[in-house]
Amino acid sequence: MRLSILLLSVPCAIVVLAACNRDMPASTSPTIAPAHTVAMTTQHDEHSYAEPDKVRITDLALDLALDFDQRQLAGAATATLHWLDPRATQLLLDTRELTIDKVEGAASNGQWTPLQYALAAPDRILGSKLTIQMPQRNPAVRITYRTSPAASGLQWLQPSMTQGKQQPFMFSQSEAIHARSWVPLQDTPSVRFTYRAHVLAPKDAMVLMSAQNDAAAADGSAPRSGDYRFTMREPIPSYLLAIAAGDLVFQSTGKRSGVWAEPAMVGPAAKEFEDTEKMIEVAESLYGPYRWGRYDLLVLPPSFPFGGMENPNMTFATPTIIVGDKSLVSVVSHELAHSWSGNLVTMATWRDGWLNEGFTTYVQGRITEALYGKALADEEVLLAERNLQKTIGKMPENAQRLAPQPRRIDADDELSDVAYDKGSWFLRTLEQRFGREYFDAWLKGYFDHFAWHSITTEQMLANLKSNLIDKYPGKMSWDEVKEWVYGAGIPKDAPIPDSPRFDAIDKERASFLAGKIAADKLDAKNWNTQEWMYFLDRLPDVPPLAKMRQLDAAWHLTGTPNAEIGMRWYVHAIAAGDKAVWNAAAGHMTRIGRIYLTLPVYPAFAKTPDGLAFAEQTYAKAKDGYHPITRTAIERVFAKAQAKPRAGKTASK
Ligand SMILES: [Zn+2]
Repeated sequence: MRLSILLLSVPCAIVVLAACNRDMPASTSPTIAPAHTVAMTTQHDEHSYAEPDKVRITDLALDLALDFDQRQLAGAATATLHWLDPRATQLLLDTRELTIDKVEGAASNGQWTPLQYALAAPDRILGSKLTIQMPQRNPAVRITYRTSPAASGLQWLQPSMTQGKQQPFMFSQSEAIHARSWVPLQDTPSVRFTYRAHVLAPKDAMVLMSAQNDAAAADGSAPRSGDYRFTMREPIPSYLLAIAAGDLVFQSTGKRSGVWAEPAMVGPAAKEFEDTEKMIEVAESLYGPYRWGRYDLLVLPPSFPFGGMENPNMTFATPTIIVGDKSLVSVVSHELAHSWSGNLVTMATWRDGWLNEGFTTYVQGRITEALYGKALADEEVLLAERNLQKTIGKMPENAQRLAPQPRRIDADDELSDVAYDKGSWFLRTLEQRFGREYFDAWLKGYFDHFAWHSITTEQMLANLKSNLIDKYPGKMSWDEVKEWVYGAGIPKDAPIPDSPRFDAIDKERASFLAGKIAADKLDAKNWNTQEWMYFLDRLPDVPPLAKMRQLDAAWHLTGTPNAEIGMRWYVHAIAAGDKAVWNAAAGHMTRIGRIYLTLPVYPAFAKTPDGLAFAEQTYAKAKDGYHPITRTAIERVFAKAQAKPRAGKTASK
């Protein structure tokens, strides 16, 4: 996933614990073992009720009807079970706001017989535990159920909220723990299963899933029948289950890649993503074959809450990365990279999220470097690292760790900038110390060794110790590794890339703020998106109003169609007290539901009573176009602003 949720959302009650010095598992084998020898993890997942050490789902068959009017998926989920504990006689599943109509077990004669079950009262974070009594330890269970119109993992859009305005649209977002709101299952990344699905929908809706899409065919030419079948032959964790339906058409971008989008968007999207096939080839040359068959992208309406979601075979992407110059396609590199880091080798629990996001952010950078050059890759690294340097010290100590101590927070909050940017920083440090030849060989071997497994931080570290740290002594000590993974903050000697272009921008910004050069004399005509982002990111938190007006007069930032630039511009202009940008900022907030680009504008407004009132009015109008996950994040901003006395307009961050 590519997000960047600010840690605004981390509850303050997190207990700050002393630095962790846990013992590392002893390494036993200096060579890479075949994948089948990887032990199944039994790490407890505090975000799931499931007991996968007792019984595991190995395959799921979904038979669902999709109803736009009722905003509902209804039907049956049939799970094949592998019983591990000989004493186990019950199955615990995760659900959220599901109505359970019937639960049956398969008998040896092939008949289905009713089973006793109980649905517990909902927990705010985890949802409702479904306990199924299975004294016969049946090989399969079938649950007949319906979703709620408010399911946290589904968004239902009216035709007016789509680009074409003619047909309704729906899509899922299962990561982190929202799959349970549309399928009853063991909703933990430590459980992997294959799946099949049969979906009935209105005839004019194209249905797509994170699987081989039997109906759409490779060239997207299959007719819309209203009757679709899907197969995922590889074992995936539950957060990669995905579905979308709407007026979707296909355009190819290569022999195994293409774009799905609404008709008016598919051409520009295919143009923006025309390098997808080359990205796959670069990743394969570094990390071995792409093992999933096709790689297609689905461009969602602007309410999609994230940059992208790495649903296998079908990355879901925000339209905010289609800006006409490919400057934001690193989101595609990121989601593609997950085909190795995350989808192939998966974190066992959300606490191990950096194994997905840190590794993926690192691989993303390598793809960007190979295709678009080191200068751009370094600029993207610097943007992230400078931002993390600025924010990490303000986080609770435990949240600053790659592998935090257990904490009772929403799984959505486990994936912070620390997982993405400190995680990838650690890998870049390893790369620099050991050199690309040794580091790349280790990383490729790591993906091969743990392929199709879900692993803990400690399993990854044992592999790293045997196959890199101990193999090439004197490059990095084990204490340094532990400081990166279990320590707070960023180690003092963490390497930062050079960027002469960013250095020049630092000088220009300083001269401009000091009144030595006028806004229209900035060398900004040749700045790319990343360079504008860098210029704006490092303006003072509360810049002088006159300077902001000069910038706007010279470069017309208000109303920019580039949302990365827009978000940074509005945050600073609002902080400067420039009311002239308010309406355009409201337009940005209403147009875009991607959390990372819309959420930061809200706290910028919330610093003054007038601004807060304006943001609340804007939210009331924009709310219907936001995903439930976006709404939750924004409502937390309002709750926080209302909980403390309203500061004057000179308040700084
Ligand atoms: Zn990601």
